[in-house]
Amino acid sequence: MGLDAAGLVEIATAVSVARPDALAHPPAARTAAATATAASSRSEILRCVFTFAPFVASVLRRWTAGGRPWFPRPVSPATVHAVEHGSVRIGAIGVEVLCQGWAPLPLGEELPGLDVDWAAERALRPWAFGDGETWQWHVHAFVLRSPSATVMVDSGLGPFDPGAPWAESRPADDVLASPAVELDAVRHVILTHLHTDHAGGAMRDGEPRFPNARYHVHPADWAHFETRDGRGESAARYAMRRLVDLDMLSLEADDGEIAPGVAVLHSPGHTPGHRSVLVTDGDDHLLLTGDLLHLPAQVAHPDWRSSHDLDADLACRSRETLLTRAREGSWTVGVSHFARPFGLVHPAGWRSRP
Ligand SMILES: [Zn+2]
Ligand SMILES: [Zn+2]
Repeated sequence: MGLDAAGLVEIATAVSVARPDALAHPPAARTAAATATAASSRSEILRCVFTFAPFVASVLRRWTAGGRPWFPRPVSPATVHAVEHGSVRIGAIGVEVLCQGWAPLPLGEELPGLDVDWAAERALRPWAFGDGETWQWHVHAFVLRSPSATVMVDSGLGPFDPGAPWAESRPADDVLASPAVELDAVRHVILTHLHTDHAGGAMRDGEPRFPNARYHVHPADWAHFETRDGRGESAARYAMRRLVDLDMLSLEADDGEIAPGVAVLHSPGHTPGHRSVLVTDGDDHLLLTGDLLHLPAQVAHPDWRSSHDLDADLACRSRETLLTRAREGSWTVGVSHFARPFGLVHPAGWRSRP
């Protein structure tokens, strides 16, 4: 059974009630009272221990299994609430993950031409994999809250088809319009690239989902995804054409700060205008990769060519460059599609934050 916060309060209350004499009697009367009631107190405490032993065991089981002990573990497949991933702080900038859900994708289609020992990879990082020969493809956006601005990095899949059945999902409006993210307060929306799983939530019913924001897209992606009908991969770009009429779209090509401490870095290959985002406050850094990475195995092997990358060789070079900087600078890294989105680049590979 699950144990929630109310359950913990109940335990704390019960434990205090199990020692009423210690709390109720003044010091002078305590010795005599303790002698008279020692036997009944001991039996009360024993009864309490036996009563709550199953709860404690349940908490310990969840803890050792890697779950959050005070919430029921998510039930899969097809629950409606996506995984909670927590947050990090980079100096004064808070960073939260907005997870729309995950779908199991076939491993065999990921790294064409490579003979990968997936059993060994699974043994190293079991959390990254689904049932059978699949991995957990999560869909993440990030919200950055600094004293000067609220910034979205990507916008989730929105209403578009994930391309594979969700194992676990949550509607776009629940993720992006939750009370945790006040849409009116978002000043910048940085889209790492224009695939629908990153830019699909940018608009809602033909209008900007973030009405007071400036949207930032690399011009090479804006050009690459342009079509007349907006089908397939260009669906998000097509929906965003309204931003031009509203003068809410920035197509600046250069790297640099979008808001204080939030800079874009051109990292092409996955798409022509693909960008990663570097969040900095003092000596603290966070690299939000966009689709520089799909699988944790690519951290130890940045030269593994991914089927998702339009120009796979260029993508490998971008990956190598930024992962080297992240490793040398001990940057925290946030990944769009990892089941554990935050971690570090270690010489032996991805080291996720628990
Ligand atoms: Zn997730
Ligand atoms: Zn992509």
